[in-house]
Amino acid sequence: MTAQASRSPQPVDFPALAVEGVQGLTPYQPGKPIDELKRELGIETVVKLASNENPLGPGERALAAMRAACAEVHRYPDPNGFDLKAGLSRHLDVGAERLVLGNGSNDLLDLLARVFLGPGRSAVFSEHAFAVYRLVTRACGAEGRAAPALGAESGMPRGHDLEAMRARIDATTRVVFVANPNNPTGTWVEPAELEAFIADLPAEVVVVVDEAYVEYARDPGQPTALDWLERFPNLVVTRTFSKIHGLAGVRIGYAVAHPAIADLMNRVRHPFNANRVGQAGALAALEDADYVAESRRMNLAERDRLEAALDRLGLAHLPSATNFVTAEVGEDAGGIYQRLLERGFIARPLVGDGLPRHLRISVGTPAENAGLIAALEAVLEAR
Ligand SMILES: *Cc1c(COP(=O)(O)O)cnc(C)c1O
Repeated sequence: MTAQASRSPQPVDFPALAVEGVQGLTPYQPGKPIDELKRELGIETVVKLASNENPLGPGERALAAMRAACAEVHRYPDPNGFDLKAGLSRHLDVGAERLVLGNGSNDLLDLLARVFLGPGRSAVFSEHAFAVYRLVTRACGAEGRAAPALGAESGMPRGHDLEAMRARIDATTRVVFVANPNNPTGTWVEPAELEAFIADLPAEVVVVVDEAYVEYARDPGQPTALDWLERFPNLVVTRTFSKIHGLAGVRIGYAVAHPAIADLMNRVRHPFNANRVGQAGALAALEDADYVAESRRMNLAERDRLEAALDRLGLAHLPSATNFVTAEVGEDAGGIYQRLLERGFIARPLVGDGLPRHLRISVGTPAENAGLIAALEAVLEAR
């Protein structure tokens, strides 16, 4: 080796070179992957109840469509998602010009931030809301304002406090994020209250209603934010194929918005952000009403069972209209999370979400839930 090659380069302070918004960020904490825990513990059976995935696996129809699409993966996907948008347009009864496809709905949240946020601007969201709102806001240099959530004693403990959110909106605010229902709390906002909140917003403030869990709503007949698109041009609704449609691994989400907002989002969107296999799977999943109904039915029954078990174990839990339950396990939530891991069960700690006493548990299959309950019981007894 020459002296030249062996000399170590001058250290560079790369964090100091990053744009200001990125300097203060910490990465999103995903649920622990199954294979990682298998490697760490050298065990074969791992049950992941950490990312609110559909425990039934993908539906047969989606799987068949994705297999067929695999034969064409040497071709770029349709950059405009014509077929999937046509399907969504029929299914949701909205114009295709209102639709934007995303690499998961996370992508759409990022697009919205890049279109409407930046230095000197602010976004408002609730404390304990989906962590990505804060991330995308800060990443583009805007100020994220978290409004305190409803109190632990309220009828919707830790849920969005729309009044507190409204109070944080000022002339710098361009985006308000509302997750309905919300992750990681499972709580929801009643449609009439949300409608009144939106009606009261300045027309220049874009309100993003994130409906990732809407298909699990307690009353499927309830209005959703999609019903108000004509009345509120500043309303954007985001949805995903990652939850009830069982396609988290192929990353497809969509936004429904005013055509002018959809156009702006398309200007910053990567041309091939929605992949070919995902587009095919999503279209088939959309039309598989039986799979959605079965997923919903199992989730309702199993969520009830999980909640009853938590009650029996003396653990309080937040009200949920989703496919997970957020339980208050106490001060040692981190320790309980670890001991569940040792038994092969992955739950989700919520320290980073301001809920250090809680664990979020996705609703699994009957066998997975029975196992989780038994493991939790054993862990609690041993403490
Ligand atoms: C899971 C989830 C999403 C969806 O994420 P994808 O990127 O579509 O997988 C969006 N919002 C909330 C609140 C979620 O919990």
